[in-house]
Amino acid sequence: MSIKKAVILVAGYEKKLSPLTDEMHQCLFKLGDTTVIENMLTKLGNQGIKEAILIVGHKAEIIKQKLKDKFKGLKIKYIYNREFKKTNVIYSLWLARHELNDAFLLIDGDLICEEDLLSNIIHAKQKDVIAIDFSIQPSKNHIVAKIVKNEVVSVGKNLKVKRDSLFGQSVGIEKFSSKTASLFINEMDNLIKKGKKQLYYEDALNLILNKIHLFALDVRGFNWLEIDRTEEFEKAKKLFGNTADLKKQAKVLGATEVYTIFPSDLIFDERARLKCFDCKNYNQKNTCPPKIPNLDYKNILLKYKKGLIVAVKMKFNNKNLERKRRESTNKLHKILLKLEKSAFNQDNHYTLSFIGGSCKLCSNGCSPTCKFPQASRIPVEATGVDVVETLKKLGLSLKFPAKKYFYRVGLLMVG
Ligand code: SF4
Repeated sequence: MSIKKAVILVAGYEKKLSPLTDEMHQCLFKLGDTTVIENMLTKLGNQGIKEAILIVGHKAEIIKQKLKDKFKGLKIKYIYNREFKKTNVIYSLWLARHELNDAFLLIDGDLICEEDLLSNIIHAKQKDVIAIDFSIQPSKNHIVAKIVKNEVVSVGKNLKVKRDSLFGQSVGIEKFSSKTASLFINEMDNLIKKGKKQLYYEDALNLILNKIHLFALDVRGFNWLEIDRTEEFEKAKKLFGNTADLKKQAKVLGATEVYTIFPSDLIFDERARLKCFDCKNYNQKNTCPPKIPNLDYKNILLKYKKGLIVAVKMKFNNKNLERKRRESTNKLHKILLKLEKSAFNQDNHYTLSFIGGSCKLCSNGCSPTCKFPQASRIPVEATGVDVVETLKKLGLSLKFPAKKYFYRVGLLMVG
């Protein structure tokens, strides 16, 4: 099913962001040299979306003016919700009902997310999909979904979260088939006719869940934010501002997995450092314990703005394992050095990378003093980061012993 259309709900006024939102819609908040809505439209265009329908209300004219002529390959259509002050998102979406005759993406206007999240939902094989983050504790202030066998069985605010069932927080992006769109419109029609203009669109969606298969796409590990509070906006600036796109660069350079992280996402465990003592190269490598400076690495890493976990997946067999270990370490090392340079050139002067495994730049092992001190780097494990647990939190579980494939995992800290 190919998706060409996206509906974005940007009519509302966000009181929690006042006074910032008194003169400006939150979708126009600046993120480096772009805005929240431009960031989303650019990513949608990159992912092959041809038409974006924006339901506008608060500061509609400013939004139109700002976006005018900016997106060549993406047709932007505006639908005005005159009653935006006293209605909610169900009414905004209902106003677009005549446009919903094809499959479409539905996106909350205060959402900012990384492009891979959009790509995953667009390319998911299921026709009806909702992005769910299972890593967040569901709360009654958010839209929560109850999941059974990967499908949503109920969704909405104020859902009673029970310990014996699986719940997750909705990110604010869904994909619907044309068949589901028509069922959805019918339910919205019924509710609007009853004057229920202040509901959420999820209230209508909830009524058709027994007729459709709404797949819950697990987006744990992807970066996304709902900009409805000042703290979220500050976080978004750090995460999606000018230093973005290192991730894309990492992929182009050959990384197989890349995760953006905040320093607080890193899990530290001193046992990771203790494992260095078991290494057959202990006390031989210039960039490994005990030869590296004895610093408080945890405290140092927590001072950075954000980082990237970069991984290289490597196929191996029993005969070539040692060679593949060397190859993967060097491949990752080179990717990290290039990313480090890019981040440094974006005015992040403390940027530093940490490799996966010990430095193998010299084919015959370390000389008494390092031959390439500008290029050699400390392994991430030597800082006390528990790579396995950190990756698990991001949604990638490493299995031991590795079979057929293993991962080399490094860290880039930006700041
Ligand atoms: S660059 Fe060479 S000498 Fe320096 S740490 Fe790496 S392998 Fe050892």
